[in-house]
Formats: sequence, C-alpha cells, structure tokens
Amino acid sequence: LEVLGAPIINESNEWKGVVLVFHDITELKNLEQMRKDFVANVSHELKTPITSIRGFSETLLDGAMQDDALREQFIKIILKESQRLQSLIHDLLELSKLEKEEFELNIEQVSVKDLIQDIIPIVEHQAEEKDIKLHQELQSDTIIDGDSARLKQVVINLVTNAINYTPSNGDVTVTLEKHFDKVKITVSDSGVGIPEEDIPRIFERFYRVDKARSRNSGGTGLGLAIVKHIVEGHHGSIEVESAHQEGTTFRIYLPEKFTKS
Ligand code: ADP
Repeated sequence: LEVLGAPIINESNEWKGVVLVFHDITELKNLEQMRKDFVANVSHELKTPITSIRGFSETLLDGAMQDDALREQFIKIILKESQRLQSLIHDLLELSKLEKEEFELNIEQVSVKDLIQDIIPIVEHQAEEKDIKLHQELQSDTIIDGDSARLKQVVINLVTNAINYTPSNGDVTVTLEKHFDKVKITVSDSGVGIPEEDIPRIFERFYRVDKARSRNSGGTGLGLAIVKHIVEGHHGSIEVESAHQEGTTFRIYLPEKFTKS
C-alpha cells in the first residue's frame, strides 16, 4: 500500500484538514518484480554461453590447439555455444516484438495444411537423428486468416519440443482437423511428460521442468511463451494434457476468421 497526503488550506491560509490517497500497488510491485526477474534471467542465460566460449578459446590459445583431438572438441563446443546465443537472441527479439502493444500480425489467407507440410522437412531431420517416427494426419480444407510465418513458428516450436522431450524410438504425431468454426492442430508425443504441478507454469518465460535437458537440446526456455503470444494474437487458444513418463499433447484452436480487437 502506498499513502500520499496533502494538507487542505483555505484562502486565509488556515488548516482545514488533510487529504489522504491510498494506492494499492500490489499489482505494480508484482509487475516490477517480474521485470526484475526477467532481466536477471536474461543476463544469466547470456552469461553461461559467453563464459564457456571465452574459457574454451583461452584454453585453445594456451596450448590446447596443439592437440588435434582437443582442438576439434573445443571448437565444437564453441560453435554449439554460439548457436545457443544466436537462438536466445532470436527468441528474445521475437518475444519483445510480440509483447509490444502496437504489434500487428501479417494476416492473410493461409492453408494450414500447406503450412504444416512446409515445416515437415525441417523437423523430420531432427526426428531422424533421434530415431523418432513423425506421423502426420492432415485434413485439407483448412484455410484460415493468419500470419503464416508466425504460425509456422508455433508448429515448429511444438514439434521441436515434442522431439526434444521424447526418448529415441518414440513417436510424434501432428494432426490437423476442423473443429466447428475453428481449425484444430494437435501435436502429441510419447515422451517424458510434464508433471501436473508444472503444467500451469510452462508458458512462462524461462520456466523449465528440467533445466539440463532443455539446455542440452538447445532449448531457450522461451519457445512456449512465444507460442502462447502468437496463438492468442490470433484469438485462438492452447491446451495441454500430459501424463508423466507417458507423453504430452498440445492442442491449438484457431478461428477461421480474424477479427481485429
Ligand atoms: P525449452 O526451450 O526449455 O524447451 P519451452 O518454452 O519450449 O522451452 O518449454 C518450456 C518447458 O516445458 C520445457 O523446458 C519442458 O520442461 C516443458 N515441455 C515443453 N514441451 C514439452 C513436451 N512436449 N514434453 C515434455 N515437456 C515439455
């Protein structure tokens, strides 16, 4: 609670009382705390790869360069860590664009089926590397008003997560169907699942159930926050259902017609 006070004085300069204004600033304080946490998280996420890039470069210059095996191993780490920095910065910029008030989607008529088929080659490669089978069941008459580049990002993020959080030899399925006046995209996997208590938090920026697994797979911790913003920007909705060690299903509903709010 914040209290502001001011005296009430009449024309003859006599005290008539005071005015007290009470502001409930809990909401503001929470926002301020969230902003601080975010800055701390970003700094930490940037620091980790930079420390590693610097350390391995110094070790190379200090002599490790002479050893063929070490040289290759260290350069691979430096490359991987630079890629992590790049994805992190890409996701941060994307999120900051999506969070701007005046932000607008580039709405056009898009075939959701074509859009999903366009991204299959990208994710198929990731699935093959882990011996994961990628299944598709795509209904065709699914034209909606949408931002195609951003909707592609949504599907890529969900399918990449499904692959990352599913052990080798598992299955990932993408389905597309009509659901009344909406289009429904489902991405399900036979992976590690999400514990029930974590489900409400997974759309928060940098929230991860398993930090090590997320980092190892190249995750930035921002993917689902981006997904949620894009889906809600289209006035759609997203649901998640998961059973620990059995698998996870994300469902997205997108309206066929876009109405500007
Ligand atoms: P990350 O880059 O860490 O994957 P996301 O925002 O995409 O970040 O996801 C947040 C967290 O939600 C992940 O770290 C992971 O713990 C959990 N998660 C997301 N998708 C899945 C999934 N398909 N199966 C299990 N856990 C998932």
